[in-house]
Amino acid sequence: MTHFSVDSVTESLRQEGLRITKNRRGILECLFAAKEPMSLQEIQDSALKFSGTKPDYATVFRMILLMEKLHLVHKVNLQRPCSYYELRDPHKHYDHLICKKCAHVVLIDIPCPIGDTEQKLAKKYGFSDLSHSLEFFGTCSQCV
Ligand SMILES: [Zn+2]
Ligand SMILES: [Zn+2]
Repeated sequence: MTHFSVDSVTESLRQEGLRITKNRRGILECLFAAKEPMSLQEIQDSALKFSGTKPDYATVFRMILLMEKLHLVHKVNLQRPCSYYELRDPHKHYDHLICKKCAHVVLIDIPCPIGDTEQKLAKKYGFSDLSHSLEFFGTCSQCV
């Protein structure tokens, strides 16, 4: 079992024929350092800190799209106009709490609240390979 890291993702992208430039590695490092899901614009701005040069928006866009196709990142529904992405470690589970006031996002680290339900649904409706991500919207303790 390979550890999910900048290097393992780099390797997956290389296998897809993507050349890993300094900018692209900067984008990966930025994603791994992220504490919350990021928009493409935020990824572009933040990648500068890691690679020393700001990648083109198109570079970020194409790379994230490819990573989404490979299930290395996924979109998180924050109910905001643009799309937000986070890394997707295949051995982790992603459900979120989202503050409606300050947009703070917390990754839930208790066992999935609907894990059993998912299995029941799969059985009842004859689906296999189910996945989900739950977003709970509310007000965080800082915003009460
Ligand atoms: Zn808040
Ligand atoms: Zn879940």
